[in-house]
Amino acid sequence: MTKRYHIWTEGCQMNVADSLKLAAGLDRFGWQAVDAPETADLVVLNTCVVRESAEHRAVSHLGRLAAMKRKGNADFRIVVMGCMVGPKDDELRRRFPYVDHFARPQAFDGIFEALGLADDSGGEFWPTAFPTPTGPTAYVPIIHGCDKFCTYCIVPYRRGREQSRLLDEVVQEVAHLVHGGVREVTLLGQTVEAYGLDFEDKRPDLGDLMAAIHDLPNLERIRFLTSYPKDMTSKIVEAVRDLPKVTEFFNIPVQHGSDAVLQRMRRGYDTALFHDRVNLIRSMMPEASITTDIIVGFCGETEAEFDATLRLLEEVRFDKVHVAAYSPRPGTIAARRMQDDVPLEVKKQRLQAVEEVEERISSALNARLEGSDQEVLVEGRRDGRWFGRTRSNKLVHFAGEAAIGDVVTVRIEKTTAWSLQGTTADEALPLVL
Ligand code: SAM
Ligand code: SF4
Repeated sequence: MTKRYHIWTEGCQMNVADSLKLAAGLDRFGWQAVDAPETADLVVLNTCVVRESAEHRAVSHLGRLAAMKRKGNADFRIVVMGCMVGPKDDELRRRFPYVDHFARPQAFDGIFEALGLADDSGGEFWPTAFPTPTGPTAYVPIIHGCDKFCTYCIVPYRRGREQSRLLDEVVQEVAHLVHGGVREVTLLGQTVEAYGLDFEDKRPDLGDLMAAIHDLPNLERIRFLTSYPKDMTSKIVEAVRDLPKVTEFFNIPVQHGSDAVLQRMRRGYDTALFHDRVNLIRSMMPEASITTDIIVGFCGETEAEFDATLRLLEEVRFDKVHVAAYSPRPGTIAARRMQDDVPLEVKKQRLQAVEEVEERISSALNARLEGSDQEVLVEGRRDGRWFGRTRSNKLVHFAGEAAIGDVVTVRIEKTTAWSLQGTTADEALPLVL
């Protein structure tokens, strides 16, 4: 009888990519994906523990699965993978005795072994069924792990040291995805510009990799995430400018606007370096879209230090800001050596203050696009309207003739802080000026 699996994914794009990879591996053995865990033979939780709230969601999900098992109306095996699983899993085994297998991020081999499936691909399995759940776009991890050890962050402890994938392997994977109908790939790494720095002579690097996939027929767009300010060299920015398929979109987490806090976070740069990077990008590509991540309420954050973050947001005017309240993560340097001394209420107020500034700035930046024509890659249809993204990664809802995977021109008629609305340019009414 056909075996069925259900994968629940929490967290970053890397986890989305890992889940798709695992699904592709299971598909190769003839297993079938199902939406309801109670109808599955295998339930996989792909977890995130970057913030306490994400960890809580995984734990409560596990609680529900345990209850389903206890009631005896379901008979499935449970695998927990992702960042919840560290090098030692004894503590997890004690806490969750009903879990059949724990797998560290990308430790697919152990999962297949635990399921009694003989896999000899070395974890390199790619989707065979298209479109995949991410439709005409795909995430492709190119460098695993992180060597930076920012004091607040658990990622290096869970994902290990930086390790770049071989260029040929990535090129083959992208070619396979494009052959299956994917039009846009996002090359992923925790600090993606570190790609290749662990190779002899530090080559090929990210620029070389983007050039190597650039001319694949039917590939429309190349993106890359996440940029680490210090690793972002002018060579990389020039590659973005010079390779037409690489979109002028940069996600560069600054994390804080105060140099003293950046030091406590051990980010390895100051705000002057960050401004340099933004200026470099904007001098080469004035229309580039730049987004960032901010943490509020980090250990010892004073009112004046927080104000520095608000000032930086006003100065840089990011297209989008992902903001999080600091949550101590066991085992990190900050959790061991610093006081989590900003009260929860203050963290919430600061989070809200950042969101208000972000909304005002994003609204103003998006409003400038009203009346413009934008190139949109169509990703799907919802509530009678198409949706997709611009080259600058802005979400667009629109009316008109289109099909998933098309690149269409949309005349932007209305905007909010979060999205743009319009009509395909052929059908849009002429602009009355
Ligand atoms: N590598 C990227 C970088 O250099 O910023 C980010 C990766 S991290 C997994 C994703 C985001 O989670 C970070 O940008 C940070 O804002 C947030 N984050 C990480 N640890 C956190 C913590 N302990 N509390 C709150 N937010 C955290
Ligand atoms: Fe975490 Fe810092 Fe590495 Fe980003 S660069 S994953 S924030 S340790």
